[in-house]
Amino acid sequence: MSENEVNAPANFIHEIIAGDLAEGKNGGKVVTRFPPEPNGYLHIGHAKSICLNYGTAVKFGGKFNLRMDDTNPVKEDTEYVESILEDVKWLGADWEDRFYHASDYFEQMYGYAEQLIRDGKAYVCDLSEEEFKNIRGTLTEPGRPSPYRDRTPEENLDLFRRMRAGEFPDGAKVLRAKIDMSSPNIHMRDPAIYRIRHADHHNTGNKWCVYPLYDFAHPLEDAVEGVTHSICTLEFEIHRPLYDWIIQNVDTPSKPRQIEFARLNLSYTVMSKRKLLELVKNGYVDGWDDPRMPTVCAFRRRGVTPQAIRDFCEIIGVTKFNSLTDIALLEHCIRNDLNRTSLRAMAVMNPVKLIIDNYPEGQVEELETVNNPEDPSAGTRNIPFSKVLYIERDDFMEDPPKKFFRLAPGREVRLRSAYFVTCVSVVKDASGVIQEIHCTYDPATRGGDSPDGRKVKGTIHWLSAAHAVKAEARLYDRLFTVEDVSAIPEGANYLDYLNPESKKVVECFVEPSLAECEPGARRQFERIGYFCADPKDHVPGKRPVFNRTAALKDSWAREMAKTGKGAV
Ligand code: ATP
Ligand code: MG
Repeated sequence: MSENEVNAPANFIHEIIAGDLAEGKNGGKVVTRFPPEPNGYLHIGHAKSICLNYGTAVKFGGKFNLRMDDTNPVKEDTEYVESILEDVKWLGADWEDRFYHASDYFEQMYGYAEQLIRDGKAYVCDLSEEEFKNIRGTLTEPGRPSPYRDRTPEENLDLFRRMRAGEFPDGAKVLRAKIDMSSPNIHMRDPAIYRIRHADHHNTGNKWCVYPLYDFAHPLEDAVEGVTHSICTLEFEIHRPLYDWIIQNVDTPSKPRQIEFARLNLSYTVMSKRKLLELVKNGYVDGWDDPRMPTVCAFRRRGVTPQAIRDFCEIIGVTKFNSLTDIALLEHCIRNDLNRTSLRAMAVMNPVKLIIDNYPEGQVEELETVNNPEDPSAGTRNIPFSKVLYIERDDFMEDPPKKFFRLAPGREVRLRSAYFVTCVSVVKDASGVIQEIHCTYDPATRGGDSPDGRKVKGTIHWLSAAHAVKAEARLYDRLFTVEDVSAIPEGANYLDYLNPESKKVVECFVEPSLAECEPGARRQFERIGYFCADPKDHVPGKRPVFNRTAALKDSWAREMAKTGKGAV
C-alpha cells in the first residue's frame, strides 16, 4: 500500500475507529479481518472489502487477519481456499502470520454454546425449520414460544452433548439462543445457533456433526481473534443486535464492534456467487478466470494490475447507501494505471498492405522508438522497417470525409517513428476490395520528423510485413448488455442478457519482439488498446496469445469532461 493510500481522506468507518481510539477502547489497538467463506472465487466486491479492511489496519498501525469463514461443511472446498490466498496476496494485503480458519475455533464455540445453556440462555428445540417458521411470527406479528423453550439447563446440556455425539439425524434438533420471541427484530426471535449436519468438513474431517450457524459463529470468530472492528456489508445491519447479544452473553476475550458499509455493485456484470458459479458450471464463460468475469483471478488474467483495483476501491470510497457503480470508472482506473506503466508496441489488427514504391527492394532498417512516452526511464527499442508494411485497413479511406486525417489518395501522413509517406495509388481485387496501398516516402523524414518543418495531420502505426508475427488477440467486452443486471424485468432470465459480443477472437500481427515476451507481459498496442500476454496460453517462441485488457477509448473521462466534472 502506498503513502497516498494510507493517507487517504477519512471515511465514516475511520471516523468511528478514531473515536474509539480517542476514548481509549481496545487498549489502543485496531484489528480488522477479511472473512471469506471458501465457497467461490473472490470478486471485485470482495476486493473492496479487502482494501478497506487492510487499508484501515495500515492506517491505524493495526493488524489485519485473513480468516476462512468455513462453518458450513457442505459448500466449501480447498480449491477455493487456495484461490483466495492467491488473490488476497496479489491485491497486496498482508496478513503476515495471521491466517485463520473459523473451523479451528469449533471447540471454543462449542464451549460458548454450553455456557449459554448453563446460563439458561440457550435451549435445544425439536421443531423442524417449517414448524418454527409457523410460530416465529411476521414483521407485524410477534412470535410464540417453542414448546421446548423451557427445558432445564440440565436437560439441554444432555441433549446438546448427545447432538454432538451423533445420536440424532440431520434436522432433528437445533440449539436456539433464548432471546425474545416478541422482539420487533425477527433475528432476535430465538435464532438457531447450532444445527446437526452429518457431513465431512474440508478442514476438520468427520470430527463434528454439529456446526455453528453464521450469526453465532461470526461474532465469536471475531472475538477469539481479538478483532476490534468487524467491518461487513449493509445487509448485516439488522443482525447487529444479535451480534452484540452473543458478545455480551458469553465470556469472550475481546468485545468487537460491527460496522456496516454498502456493498459494491457494478454495472454490466453480476456479483452473486450463485450466478457466477452458474456461469462457470454451465459453460457460459471459460472458467472462474475467464477475463470477462468480475473475479480477481479474471482481472489478473486479463492484465489488470492490483494497483488499478486498489485505486478504484479508494475512489469509490465507502458509504451507507447501496448503489450501482459505473463499470466505466473501473475501466478508467485500469487505463490510467496501464498508461503510466505499460510499454508500447506496434500491432495491426486488420491489416492491409502498404508498399513504398521508392524504398529500396530488400532493404531493412532498424528504427528507434520509445518504449513509453509517459516514462522516459523505460528507454527505447528498435523495430524493423522495410518496403512492404502492414497498416490498419481503417487508417485508409479512398474518399475520406472532412474529419478523417489519416491516409487517403494524394495525402501525406506520418508512420510512427519512421517516415512521412504519401499515397500515390491503390490496387483492388475484382470485387473492389483494396489489396495494396502504394506510397512514396521522404527519406529526409527518418524518425518521423520533417527537417523543413512540414506538418502532417495524421500519424499511423505499421509493421514490416516480412517481420510481423501472427498472433491471436482475444477481444473482451462487457459480460452483459444491461446496465443493472439485478433490475431485469420480472420473469426474465439474467442469462438472456449475456453479451454475445463479449469475446471475439481475431488473428492479428504484432511486432517481432512480442514473440518472445513472457506470459503476463503487458503492452499498450499503439492506438488500439492495452493487452496482456495470456498467463495460461501464451508460450514464448510460439504464436503469441494476447488478451485485450481495455480499449483505449475512455468513456468515463470523456463523460466527466463533458459534464465539466473533470477526470477523477
Ligand atoms: P455469501 O455469503 O452469499 O456466500 P458473500 O459475497 O457475502 O457471499 P463472503 O465470502 O461471505 O461472500 O464475503 C466475504 C466478505 O466480503 C464479507 O465480509 C462480505 O461482507 C464482503 N463482500 C462480499 N461481497 C461484497 C461486495 N459486493 N462489496 C463489498 N464487500 C463484499
Ligand atoms: Mg457472506
